Amino acid sequence: MVNTDLPAPPGIEGQGFFATSLDKVVGMARKNSLWPLPFATSCCGIEFMATMASHYDLARFGSERPSFSPRQADLLMVMGTIAKKMGPIVRQTYEQMAEPRWVIAVGACASSGGIFDTYSVLQGIDRVVPVDVYVPGCPPRPEQIIEGLLKIQYLAENESTRRRDSPEYKALLESYNIH
Ligand code: SF4
Repeated sequence: MVNTDLPAPPGIEGQGFFATSLDKVVGMARKNSLWPLPFATSCCGIEFMATMASHYDLARFGSERPSFSPRQADLLMVMGTIAKKMGPIVRQTYEQMAEPRWVIAVGACASSGGIFDTYSVLQGIDRVVPVDVYVPGCPPRPEQIIEGLLKIQYLAENESTRRRDSPEYKALLESYNIH
């Protein structure tokens, strides 16, 4: 169930009025309406299923709507071993998402290749897309995945609406050859 009792963003309050900045309102809306795209290839995906199910209930954070269309998702959650052949697919998925978009690498495999230090496994998805949050573990427990989501919420809430137009962000994307 979505928490509808959210506190108001910081601002100035008086009798009959409340003033705040656009950044804070937009940040609050983005933070509480993340639509994750689960890109699950192996065992860490099972932990994500547990995270979505009733006991851990990711819906409590406004993220109960997994999007299987990149165009309607703003949070890419990569969970599992990513073979080098899958790298271009992860990248294409990221490119099809609209800004602002965030990425979580869930588990050791997505973060660094994990135990699979082999010729065929991508040694971390940050070789192909920029990553905002890394969740350690093999596999991480649902509590860790939730903590990763909370960190993304923190980033979404506190991000300036101008960040995506900044030269630093453009340079980051260019370093991945994403235009
Ligand atoms: S990090 Fe461990 S549990 Fe997760 S996909 Fe890799 S091997 Fe499986």
